[in-house]
Amino acid sequence: MNALLEIRGIKKTFPVRKGLFQRVKGHVNAVRDVTVDIERGTTLGLVGESGCGKSTLAKVLVGLYPPSEGEIRFNGKPIIRAEATERIDTARSIQIVFQDPYSSLDPRLPIWRSIAEGLSIHHEGDASTLWRRVGEILELVGLPPNAADRYPHEFSGGQRQRIGVARALIMDPEFIICDEPTSALDVSVQAQILNLLKRLQEELNLTLLFISHNLSVIRHVADKVMVMYLGAVVEIAPARQLFNAPLHPYTRALLSATPIADPKLRGRRIKLEGELPSPINPPPGCTFHPRCPLANDRCKREEPRLKPKGDASVACHAVEEGRTE
Ligand code: SF4
Repeated sequence: MNALLEIRGIKKTFPVRKGLFQRVKGHVNAVRDVTVDIERGTTLGLVGESGCGKSTLAKVLVGLYPPSEGEIRFNGKPIIRAEATERIDTARSIQIVFQDPYSSLDPRLPIWRSIAEGLSIHHEGDASTLWRRVGEILELVGLPPNAADRYPHEFSGGQRQRIGVARALIMDPEFIICDEPTSALDVSVQAQILNLLKRLQEELNLTLLFISHNLSVIRHVADKVMVMYLGAVVEIAPARQLFNAPLHPYTRALLSATPIADPKLRGRRIKLEGELPSPINPPPGCTFHPRCPLANDRCKREEPRLKPKGDASVACHAVEEGRTE
C-alpha cells in the first residue's frame, strides 16, 4: 500500500528545569523511537493512557514541536529539514482538529473569520472569496451557510467541533490529525462527529491519524491501531486483529476497560492496576513491568524491542517467548 506519511525513529525529549535559575536537571523522553507508516486514504488509530506521548507525537507531526531525532516523509519527501516553500505546502496539507475547539476560536470574532484564518495567513483571496469558501465548507460539515456570522458561544459542543473540522478542511488538506476530537462530547454527539469524519474521509480521500484514550472510538474509525505506553509503541496491528486477538498485555488491559460483547474475549482480558509511572524516572527494562501480570526477571532488566508477529508488531518478551503466565 502507498504510504502518505512515513514516520521513522521519531524521538522527542524535553528538558526538566528546576530551581531559581531554571537549570536543566534531567530530560523527559516524551516520544521514544516511533516508526510507522500511514497509508493513503486510511485511518491510523493511536491509543494509550493520558501522558503516554500521543499528543506530543501529534504536535511533532504537525510541526508544532521539532523532533529531537528521526525523520518524517510526506508524499515521499522529507519534511523536517525541507526548504521553506516545501514546508509551507506541507503545513497546509497536514491539519489538526483539537479536543476543545472552543479554546481555539476567538470569542470576539464571528466564526467565518476563525475558519478563514488559515487562508488569510496565506493571502488567498479577498473577503468575498473567503466568505464564499467558508459557506461551502460549512455546508460540507453539516452547518448552514448562514452560521458564518454567528459567534462561538451561539453553538453547541458538537457544532463547535464541526467548526473545528471546517477550520482544518478549508486548507484542502490530505492528512488530518484528530486529537481526541470527541472526548469532550456527549455519547450521541460523539457518534455524529465520528460519522461526519468517516463521510468526509471517503468524499475527500483524506488520511487520518485518530488519537483517543477510548478503544471503542478507535474500533469505530481505525484501519490500523498503534498502542503507546510511556512514549513508546508497544503494539501495532490491523484494527480487526488487535480487537480480536490483542497480543501485548497492555493492549489486553486497555481492552478490559472497554465493553465487549464476545464472552470469549472477556475471558482473556487482564485488569490494569497501578498508575502510569513518571516519564521523568521510568522503570528499568520494560517500562510496563510494574503493572504487568506476566513480568519476570528479564522484563525488569531488558527493554523489549518492537518485533513483527504475523501482521502485527509487538514489544513484549512474553509474546516472543510464547509465555501466557
Ligand atoms: Fe509484561 Fe514483560 Fe511483556 Fe513487558 S516485556 S509487557 S513486563 S511480559
